[in-house]
Amino acid sequence: MDTDKRTVCIIGAGLGGLFTGAILAHEGLQVTVLEKNATIGGGLQSFRRFGEVFDTGMHVFGGMQEGGNGRRICEYLGIFDESLFSFVNDDKVDSLYVAEDDKSYDIRYGREGFVKSLSAYFPDQQDNLARYVDAIYRLTEEVPMFYLRPMKSDFLMHSDDFFLSADAFIAKYISDPKLRSVVAFMNPLYAGQADTTPAYIHSIVSVLCINGPCRFVGGSDLFANKLRDKIESCGGKVYTSEGVSSIQSEGRNITSITTTKGNTYTADYYISDIHPATLIGLFDDPTALPKAYRNRINEIPNSYSAFTLNIKFKPNTFPYLDHTAYYMERYSDVWNFGSTDSWPLGFLYMTPPEINQGEFTNKMIVTVPMSWQYVKQWEGTTFGHRTPEYEAWKARCAEEVIDRLEKLHPNIRQCIEAINTASPLTIRDFYGAKEGCMCGYVKDSKNITLSHIPVVTKIPNLLLTGQCVNLHGFCGVLLTSINTSEAILGINYVLNKING
Ligand SMILES: Cc1cc2nc3c(=O)[nH]c(=O)nc-3n(C[C@H](O)[C@H](O)[C@H](O)COP(=O)(O)OP(=O)(O)OC[C@H]3O[C@@H](n4cnc5c(N)ncnc54)[C@H](O)[C@@H]3O)c2cc1C
Repeated sequence: MDTDKRTVCIIGAGLGGLFTGAILAHEGLQVTVLEKNATIGGGLQSFRRFGEVFDTGMHVFGGMQEGGNGRRICEYLGIFDESLFSFVNDDKVDSLYVAEDDKSYDIRYGREGFVKSLSAYFPDQQDNLARYVDAIYRLTEEVPMFYLRPMKSDFLMHSDDFFLSADAFIAKYISDPKLRSVVAFMNPLYAGQADTTPAYIHSIVSVLCINGPCRFVGGSDLFANKLRDKIESCGGKVYTSEGVSSIQSEGRNITSITTTKGNTYTADYYISDIHPATLIGLFDDPTALPKAYRNRINEIPNSYSAFTLNIKFKPNTFPYLDHTAYYMERYSDVWNFGSTDSWPLGFLYMTPPEINQGEFTNKMIVTVPMSWQYVKQWEGTTFGHRTPEYEAWKARCAEEVIDRLEKLHPNIRQCIEAINTASPLTIRDFYGAKEGCMCGYVKDSKNITLSHIPVVTKIPNLLLTGQCVNLHGFCGVLLTSINTSEAILGINYVLNKING
């Protein structure tokens, strides 16, 4: 391993901070990660309630199958551990239920399986489906990073499809209005919006799902611990309960950062894994960053947030589901999950796999997209100090979700032993995510460049990582970690190593 004792201080031990830290530590840099919470992980955090481990923000993701991008990055770091993941194969299905016509769809994995399974419900669309699947794979080819291909030049040619919104792109290939909504079933994994979310984001998430999604076994925090151990085994440090409260600068350079405990850290490079708008608020001198940049950071809209219902079941009452299940109120709702007109309009739910998983499950996690507007009235409150009205509202929300789950699992209410809920306020307070956003900034097909924040900033020794830059989610945050690391190590440095 190279020895490079340049120092790096990372703000936030979410997936982005830990992964970027692991890459840089692996390449010989001296890495320090500062996390405000008592627990590392951000969206990878798990918590124990009613004797069960519940994951908070990472339930289903792709790229970990043989040859997948996430797996290859983990293998390069020497941290791939198959026992942490539960994989699916071509025989498995995701399921989608649409309440409007009481219809269930079983959607198979694998390119062929996907087309075949949906053609069974929409026989006249078989050719369209095949063309559509070809088109989503083609779009992912326009994102070389998705395949961990080194960049050949700064100039990338894109097809017209690349600049379409996801809904327009789907409509171009599929003529049946119901099927258009069905193929967008994984919308809660990318917070898709009509006329806005770029087609390539829909394509990346769809391809990850079609290639074979996976889930964490025994808790996503085990993966966060793996990353921390990697950093520390390379001589780095990961500190918890060490929230960054201010940033000191001189001209266009950060000189130090200070934490709530009054500790000061200095480094050659500072990397932020927190929401860029929150980062800007930490500067003692806000003018360290140009006004136009600050305005842009503050003005990009955030993606929708989520309400989470965690259910603990009575022993041996509810069957384990070996797939992710999706619910939609009406076909036309698929692009409106973040709407304030009505709630809930759709959600995903799963029974997280355990080590030695048996026939029954002890728990279920339901992730229900929700606009920040629903909790805005309580935005001045903090965790542990909410109001009775807020608690009553959360209880009503849980009932709404259970009512819908009953349509699919008529006896579910009798199986429930206890529930726990989290709202967009919880996400805001635990991760520091602005407006509790699930997937960072809204990416806009009408202005792809402006809605993307580069990893480099106007401050040469400040870099960004995490879900607000490029892509969100497990795959997106991992890929961005490479971009951020290469801003220090040199273009294609990591990619060339991964590719041998
Ligand atoms: C309910 C929910 C469900 C989701 N489900 C999925 C899913 O199934 N699949 C998927 O791929 N993605 C999912 N996502 C998205 C995924 O969780 C995120 O994209 C990803 O975890 C973001 O990682 P990050 O490192 O960018 O940010 P975060 O995980 O938010 O990490 C930021 C870290 O910075 C810390 N921090 C904040 N302020 C400070 C400070 N001042 N000083 C020090 N530390 C600070 C926070 O405590 C946190 O640990 C979900 C998100 C949510 C909210």
